[in-house]
Amino acid sequence: MSLVTSKHLLLNALKGKYAVGAFNANNLEMIQAIIEAATIEKAPVIVQFSQGAINYAGIFAIKSMVGAMAKYNSIPIVLHFDHGRTVEQNIKCLNSGFTSLMFDGSDLSFTENINQSKILTQIAHFYKIPVELELGKVLYQGVDNNEIINTLTNPYQVKEFIYKTKADSLAVAVGSVHSQCSSETQLDIDRLKEISKEIPEVPLVLHGSSGVDENSIRDAIANGICKVNVGTCLIKRFSESVKNYIQLNPDVIDPRKYLNAGKEEMKDEVRKKIRLFGSSKIIK
Ligand SMILES: [Zn+2]
Repeated sequence: MSLVTSKHLLLNALKGKYAVGAFNANNLEMIQAIIEAATIEKAPVIVQFSQGAINYAGIFAIKSMVGAMAKYNSIPIVLHFDHGRTVEQNIKCLNSGFTSLMFDGSDLSFTENINQSKILTQIAHFYKIPVELELGKVLYQGVDNNEIINTLTNPYQVKEFIYKTKADSLAVAVGSVHSQCSSETQLDIDRLKEISKEIPEVPLVLHGSSGVDENSIRDAIANGICKVNVGTCLIKRFSESVKNYIQLNPDVIDPRKYLNAGKEEMKDEVRKKIRLFGSSKIIK
């Protein structure tokens, strides 16, 4: 089938109390790993690209690869832009055929975040493309606890934010941090419950999941998280596997061989995540 938007996928997840995995890719083998894993698991899936990944692989190459794989597949596949920092870059992705967008205004003031987000949602909704926004800020590894606490999502701001921006989904800061691999972080589930109570009809998004304890992820999904972003633990397994392969087979020069080792390892990780998120066997 053609690429689908994330709109109904996430609303269905909200109803069904599971989460759709949103996996970051940078190259052909990573896209294959994600789509092949989701196909085996019979799960809807979001393949997402950061601005850096787009700079690396090229926006049209990305659309062509993911679009072609979706066309010859029966599971719903979304092509999502992850952490778009400007409205302009989001519009480029919209024009290039991405089926889901994100504007990350987490560095802006509450009012400016609303103002810029609104510009994008109005344009994207005209083309029936959904937009994820961020309120609070999910930080990057290396910050201390105080910084994390200072940037958590304020539950008393979410209703106004959604009402004014018309966001289709909301990335929330509830204790996770990007680029971590430890799987030890406990999320602030009470805060998540308060947020969900304020906007029960809006699918919530968890960023920085690689560093979060599995039970905490399950709790988060039971309390409104419908999309879980996974990046760091995938590239870690991909890269470690490629390095191991080359170490064990120093004479191999065929990139298909060592990249395939990375791909198979990443596929295994994606399948594990899909089962953790409860979205395995959702497609009948
Ligand atoms: Zn993120």
